[in-house]
Amino acid sequence: MSEETKNVDKASLEASDIRDSVISQELRDSFMQAYAKNTQGELEDQLGDNVMILCENLVKIYKTKETEVLALQGLELKVEKGEFIAIIGSSGSGKSTFLNMIGGLDRPSAGKLYVDGKDLFKMTESQLVDYKKNTVGFVWQNNARNLFPYLTALQNVELPIRFGDNKDVEKRALDLLNLVGMAHKKDSKLNQMSGGEQQRIAIAIALANRPKLLLADEPTGSVDQRTSDALLDVFRRLNQELGITIVIVTHDINLAKKVKRVVMMRDGKTSSERIIKQEFADPSLLKGFVEEETHDEFAILDRAGRVQIPREMLDAIGVKGNRIRLQLEDGRILVTNGESEDGEDGDDGKDGKSGKEGKSRRKNKG
Ligand code: ADP
Ligand code: MG
Repeated sequence: MSEETKNVDKASLEASDIRDSVISQELRDSFMQAYAKNTQGELEDQLGDNVMILCENLVKIYKTKETEVLALQGLELKVEKGEFIAIIGSSGSGKSTFLNMIGGLDRPSAGKLYVDGKDLFKMTESQLVDYKKNTVGFVWQNNARNLFPYLTALQNVELPIRFGDNKDVEKRALDLLNLVGMAHKKDSKLNQMSGGEQQRIAIAIALANRPKLLLADEPTGSVDQRTSDALLDVFRRLNQELGITIVIVTHDINLAKKVKRVVMMRDGKTSSERIIKQEFADPSLLKGFVEEETHDEFAILDRAGRVQIPREMLDAIGVKGNRIRLQLEDGRILVTNGESEDGEDGDDGKDGKSGKEGKSRRKNKG
């Protein structure tokens, strides 16, 4: 067998492990019990019991000796229980900061942040420790943070269970390994595993305390496309079969393409969202389509009525300064260049680039 064939076989094995492994009823039940236990959060009445994450005008300022960095600048986001969302955005847009706030790893500076009916601003240090242990699980790009290279897969997964409720340690660890398609590698040491395999172990560890919310920061950042797809299968399964709410930060465009709801961040805010179209709900149908065809794109409106208009659109209507003109017309809001002298003709004719919008505006005027 050539080297190449071997690799292909190994990769397809990775993808099929997960589909063939059966989730034991016990594991299923244990997740359901954990979920039922703690749902009476203090804010459930106000927020409704379907909300997992609610952020309003969330701000995070990092203070260093010389400067202050505004990492989150009034972020708005609502995630329902059982959702699976991806967050994308260029480097430095605040994605990791945001995930760290939700994960209770760091405290936000202002705004509102509720997770699973709890107000994260009001949590004491010990409540926060409890929250990190029981409500959220975390997966990073670099697993070194929560894996021990010289221990076996099984030993690695057993550790957090021992620190938790400490019951049926080995059985539960095996169940979790099975869940991520790694039961057959239980006795392998972590330093003998591929990046994708280590990442599966990291997911099993993050699940040790049956979190309701799984957060993953660039989980496929250092693996190839095939492995990334297999990891996505694992996440999808946790979401669909165990009901875990999942938030993945990624700049893996291929991964984002396959997720139902994709939130884009820009300058510390959520700027727009793409939602998969009904007809593409089955992920196997996505092949061969580009994201523009499979998802609808929306801009995010904040509480104060602010919207971020993409620079390309502003350029297309010739906006150079900081004024635009808003007009209500036939139940639509028209955005035109506010700097031009001749008012409502400002957008007419000149915007060859934005063909579609230009046409619909002219049609409306008639
Ligand atoms: P992303 O994950 O989208 O690349 P980050 O959340 O890591 O972005 O960073 C957002 C901004 O906050 C960046 O300007 C970054 O330099 C800054 N930042 C992040 N963490 C810290 C920190 N601990 N101290 C100071 N500045 C930070
Ligand atoms: Mg980051």
